[in-house]
Amino acid sequence: MPEAQRNTAKSGVRSDSAGKTRDRVTIAERVAKMGLIKDWDFVLHLPLRYEDETRITPVAGLRASDWAQIQATVVSSVTRAGKFFQLVLGVSDGTGTLEVRYLHFKPGLKERLKTGTLHRFYGQVQQQPVQYGGRLQMLHPRVKEPIEDASNLPSTLTPVYPAGEHITQTWLRKRIDRALLDVDLTDIVPADFTRPLGLPRLSDALKRLHHPLPGADFDAYSERRTPEWKRLKFDELLAQQIALREARNRKKSLRAPALTGRPGGFKAKLLAALPFELTKAQKRVLGEIDADLGAESRMNRHVQGDVGCGKTIVAEVSALQAVDSGFQAALMAPTEILAEQHYEKLKPLLEPLGVQTVLLTGSLKARDKAAVQELAASGAAQVVIGTHALIQDAVKFHKLGLAIVDEQHRFGVSQRLKLREAMTGDEVPHLLMLSATPIPRTLAMSYLADIDVSVIDELPPGRTPVVTTLVNMERMDEVVAAVDRAVKAGSQVYWVCPLIEESDKADLTAAVMRRDALVKALPQCKIDIVHGAMSADEKQTVMSRFAAGGCDILVATTVIEVGVDVPNASVMIIEHAERFGLSQLHQLRGRVGRGGKKSFCLLLYSPALSEAGRERLSVIRASTDGFAIAREDLRLRGPGEFMGARQSGAPMLRFADLEADIALLDAARNAAQQWLAQDPAQALKHAGRWFAGAGGFLQA
Ligand code: ADP
Ligand code: MG
Repeated sequence: MPEAQRNTAKSGVRSDSAGKTRDRVTIAERVAKMGLIKDWDFVLHLPLRYEDETRITPVAGLRASDWAQIQATVVSSVTRAGKFFQLVLGVSDGTGTLEVRYLHFKPGLKERLKTGTLHRFYGQVQQQPVQYGGRLQMLHPRVKEPIEDASNLPSTLTPVYPAGEHITQTWLRKRIDRALLDVDLTDIVPADFTRPLGLPRLSDALKRLHHPLPGADFDAYSERRTPEWKRLKFDELLAQQIALREARNRKKSLRAPALTGRPGGFKAKLLAALPFELTKAQKRVLGEIDADLGAESRMNRHVQGDVGCGKTIVAEVSALQAVDSGFQAALMAPTEILAEQHYEKLKPLLEPLGVQTVLLTGSLKARDKAAVQELAASGAAQVVIGTHALIQDAVKFHKLGLAIVDEQHRFGVSQRLKLREAMTGDEVPHLLMLSATPIPRTLAMSYLADIDVSVIDELPPGRTPVVTTLVNMERMDEVVAAVDRAVKAGSQVYWVCPLIEESDKADLTAAVMRRDALVKALPQCKIDIVHGAMSADEKQTVMSRFAAGGCDILVATTVIEVGVDVPNASVMIIEHAERFGLSQLHQLRGRVGRGGKKSFCLLLYSPALSEAGRERLSVIRASTDGFAIAREDLRLRGPGEFMGARQSGAPMLRFADLEADIALLDAARNAAQQWLAQDPAQALKHAGRWFAGAGGFLQA
């Protein structure tokens, strides 16, 4: 701590009583800004590191990079003007001499450290660069007055706390020590949970974290590896798990109709008519959904699975379970193209069974829209597929039993909230969310503990991994030649145009220019274009033609990013791949590799690609595992992107680290479950202790 600060603090305390009050108030305000208000906040304000003032090290015993305290006499003192105005001392304790150096010092300091005076210096020992002599030195050590009697040294390590501006360590230490005495540190976490993990009791852990014993492993404390740290992390995770579980229980208490299905009903018929066998993972997830739907408490389940694992069919089968039970099902998709595709694929499967299926999108003509809304309202339409037009005010369902949201992460936070609001009442529909943006397990466990998660962790058989290549855009001619060969060999090609500053218009121009260039270069190929500015009808015509094989190359903007399923397409070209996010690239690549054909993805990059940009693209080239890519994306972008703004800020962890403390998280999760079952009042008290200050944590 700079001397200047210490002096202001001291003089503030020393001043007359009015000044004193004023000073106190400002300190309280300053620490409140750091979230330090109640005693418990101070108790949990843990040191950044520690200083060992418990012993005095002989100068001869110092080693470079040690933090140490010496007691020595000033034997030489010179000031030097140079790049810095500096005070250079030689200090000696009889075992050796050390150089001590202050840059930009106050005049008083030189006076205080006169030759012949004895002091204690605390600081880090450094080795000078060789050209300056290579000797050991201390730069800016803290000075204290000497101690006659070594038994007067502190008996524990001195904590160094995170401190804001004008908050001194001395003030914080006193305030925290008082809080440690005042606060009730009774351990309410049953020892049955902590003992098997080798964790100390809470009061011991807290006291030791603030004041470790001499000889304690400095590094282990600073790196938060000691059992005391683990205990705090565990308590924090435990509180989080209890809070989230409790929130989930409350949501579970929402009543929904029990959709038990019907033997030999539509669902059974659809399953029998499928041209393929469901994968083990798909069957397992269907079983989980089946059990949830059959209960009278509202299902809130996320189905996660990598691109192409076959989530859609799982959702469709579940929809029929609702229909079999006499209810309607709604399927909401983030884009018109995707909604259309679902409709086009489902209708031929369902109509023959006698299930009426309708499509509702924003671009329907008013009259058609009204007709579809009427079908939904009367209950005549049993399966309603659409875009977010489904949650617009005019839409009323007769008896909605199941609401499915495909690619749920693509919906904005406000749309998701609207969906929830639209569905509250005495009885609400069950909710099924599908997402191909895999949420890492740790994140799912802690942030989504109020939601059930099913994972389809298996791809349908016969898929071969997509071969991904990075290609410099300067080699465009070769790329076009390769596309030509692929088309001649019977493949269909997606050509995704660059993302331009999130502006649809500019994206469109780029796409049109690319289409024109390709038409010129490959006159024998059938080339279409699809982009966001087209009407739903136009998009639909183009997509159907492509799906039916009537077009070889589909030039597209990112409108095809999610969900589009044309198994015969086996080449994906992405221009200016460096402008896309990792998950987005993974999604786009997932449009190919869906049939039996060997598939390719070419990531075209600008010649000006930076080293970091190349590294990012290499992640996509090296991995076809959506989970690994999502983890990398998470590392680069932080969790907020995954969860949407609302959830992201709330359940922040101060001590535990989701990736590093996964074992503790598992233990905390189990303990939370047991504790809530055995003694909910105490469990909730624990959660309250940790999160009372964190505001609407439970409402998230
Ligand atoms: P996603 O999980 O990305 O939404 P889709 O549901 O679009 O994946 O499925 C991808 C493709 O795999 C579709 O063409 C679908 O018909 C097919 N498919 C789904 N399940 C199976 C299966 N068990 N066996 C073979 N093909 C399957
Ligand atoms: Mg899908």
